[in-house]
Amino acid sequence: MPTLFSRIAAGEIPATIVARTSDCFAIEDINPQAPVHVLIVPLKEIPSVNSLTAEDESLVGKMVLLAREIAAQRGLQEGGYRLVFNCGPDAGQTVDHLHLHLLGGRSFGWPPG
Ligand code: AMP
Repeated sequence: MPTLFSRIAAGEIPATIVARTSDCFAIEDINPQAPVHVLIVPLKEIPSVNSLTAEDESLVGKMVLLAREIAAQRGLQEGGYRLVFNCGPDAGQTVDHLHLHLLGGRSFGWPPG
C-alpha cells in the first residue's frame, strides 16, 4: 500500500504542494503548528529516521537544503526556524513515511513539549 505522502505525491490525495525536486517534494501541513509549517518528504518511502541507511545520506542532505531554501523564500532566515524529524511514538510520529517539518514565523519554546 502506498503511504499517505506517496498518494499525495501521485495526486491521489489533495494537498498544497509548494516544491518538487527529482528526489523530494514539499507540502503545506494540513494542521499547521506555526505560521509556516511545511513538510519536506522524499519520494522514496522510508518509514522513519530509524530506517535510514548510508545509501540515504545524500537524500537527507537534500531534504535539509530544500527546507533551507523554502525557509529563505518565506523570509525566515533572519528570525530563525525549526527543523524537526519526529521518529517513533514517543516523538509523536503519526505518518510512517520520512518527513522533515519546517516550522517558522513565531518563537518556539525549548525544551519542546
Ligand atoms: P508526524 O506527526 O511527525 O508524523 O507528522 C505528520 C504530519 O503530517 C502532521 O503534522 C500532520 O498534520 C500532517 N498531515 C497529515 N495528513 C496530511 C495531509 N493530508 N496533508 C498535509 N499534511 C498532513
